[in-house]
Amino acid sequence: MTWNLYDRLLASADSDRSVCIEKENGATLSYAELAALSGRLANFLAKNGIGPNHRVAAKVEKSVEAIALYLATLRAGAVYLPLNTAYTAAETEYFIRDAQPTLIVCDPREEADLRAMTAKTGGRVETLNEQGQGSLVEAAATFPAGFDTVAREKDDLAAILYTSGTTGRSKGAMLTHGNLVSNALTLVEQWRYSHRDVLIHALPIYHIHGLFVAGNVTFAARARILFMQKFDAERILAAMARSTVLMGVPTFYVRLLQSANLNEATTAGMRLFVAGSAPLLAETHRDWKKKTGHEILERYGMTETGMIASNPYDGARIPGSVGRPLPAVEVRITDPESGAALATDEVGMIEVKGPNVFAGYWNMPDKTATEFRADGFFITGDLGKLDTRGYLYIVGRGKDLIITGGFNVYPKEIETEIDAIPGVSESAVVGVPHADFGEGVTAAVVRSADSKVDERAILEALSGRLAKFKQPKRIIFVDALPRNAMGKVQKNLLRERFADVYS
Ligand code: ATP
Ligand code: MG
Repeated sequence: MTWNLYDRLLASADSDRSVCIEKENGATLSYAELAALSGRLANFLAKNGIGPNHRVAAKVEKSVEAIALYLATLRAGAVYLPLNTAYTAAETEYFIRDAQPTLIVCDPREEADLRAMTAKTGGRVETLNEQGQGSLVEAAATFPAGFDTVAREKDDLAAILYTSGTTGRSKGAMLTHGNLVSNALTLVEQWRYSHRDVLIHALPIYHIHGLFVAGNVTFAARARILFMQKFDAERILAAMARSTVLMGVPTFYVRLLQSANLNEATTAGMRLFVAGSAPLLAETHRDWKKKTGHEILERYGMTETGMIASNPYDGARIPGSVGRPLPAVEVRITDPESGAALATDEVGMIEVKGPNVFAGYWNMPDKTATEFRADGFFITGDLGKLDTRGYLYIVGRGKDLIITGGFNVYPKEIETEIDAIPGVSESAVVGVPHADFGEGVTAAVVRSADSKVDERAILEALSGRLAKFKQPKRIIFVDALPRNAMGKVQKNLLRERFADVYS
């Protein structure tokens, strides 16, 4: 068997009649039907000369056909490149120029834009809409369902995924078949996934979480996906009666907690709630347990590495921790400047090595070189610590660390204190230029409904709880925190917005 992800996870799918995907209208697609659909698409790709190393870009709404296109691209030996549907024309042009795809599949609404773009950059354009219709499937329908998956080796490229762009411009992470296969099989085992599982899938499929964690893991176990176009708390709650697993970003859980229908009875048939992509507040973890009896399983990963650590299926799931490194994945904590290893409980740079770690950033050899240590560890850019039991705690991103008057301040510690103050819904703490201190600790705070909490009340509440140098110099009230498509707080936007508050 080759390392092609399709061979590893779905080789015999063409004779598997079990349901793979169930759509919101109740229509189902079996593994065999998915194999046939991806086979037709793969034949279409191959007949058009698309194979190893060619990029197939997809900027399409979530559909079963889009999933089939992903699998077809792998089967043809080519490289899948999903793009966030929210990107503007200018952003899309940047990615197309950067990635030089041979084929671009887009929503029919954007066809004209993309044709204009590819007149300059090259590349063929086909369409696929939210209902799974368009020129792509029309063309593929004329091809046979059987396709001999192209052999690929462990280190061959399977996908280029752009990072979420939380800290700046997105980078294209080159992921190999070996990366994706190893991570999927590890998670199946860690999370006790089986063909009896039914996953509620409400995540986008242009990101690692919805495509590789939710998708590949389900395929590997031959489980079932309840395919939801987007997050809808009540729909998700209604689906729980016949589901077993939910994977979500922390905001999913925060919003589900606001529903009167979340309780022990609605979640009784569920066996696993997974959270990741952004920090899950310990408070959310505890509230969830109180309301449902279930402990959310928090895990940690990134586009460049797939999943790195996970709380255990059996054993203590510690609120505020992302759990232990996955099998075969090495994690170490180092001094960000010198790279020297740090001791247990010391906060430093999280570095990672393992079969899950990517092959480098697309078109950015210099950036790739600076993000790896000589012994092969990847420098994640996240700061954290390992405790005596081997659990990993993330304290934030290196880029978000505040250095004020020569002291290090970790925003998460301040945010946790502010969030606990009555009348506060959420907060984000950033460092902005300050003439005396270098950076001034500055908090953006969202009040909860009907709250009148003011700057003085918050500063008073913090004064007994945080050392003077950690206390914010200013509290700025905002209606909402800026978030990207994955629900991550964009602190770079806050830093820009508050750049002049101390000048
Ligand atoms: P960019 O690299 O473009 O700035 P990004 O880092 O947000 O964007 P992703 O690869 O989607 O892009 O996200 C990975 C990051 O998400 C991690 O580096 C980490 O900061 C954060 N993250 C993921 N899971 C968790 C978690 N459980 N707790 C805290 N942070 C998490
Ligand atoms: Mg990142």
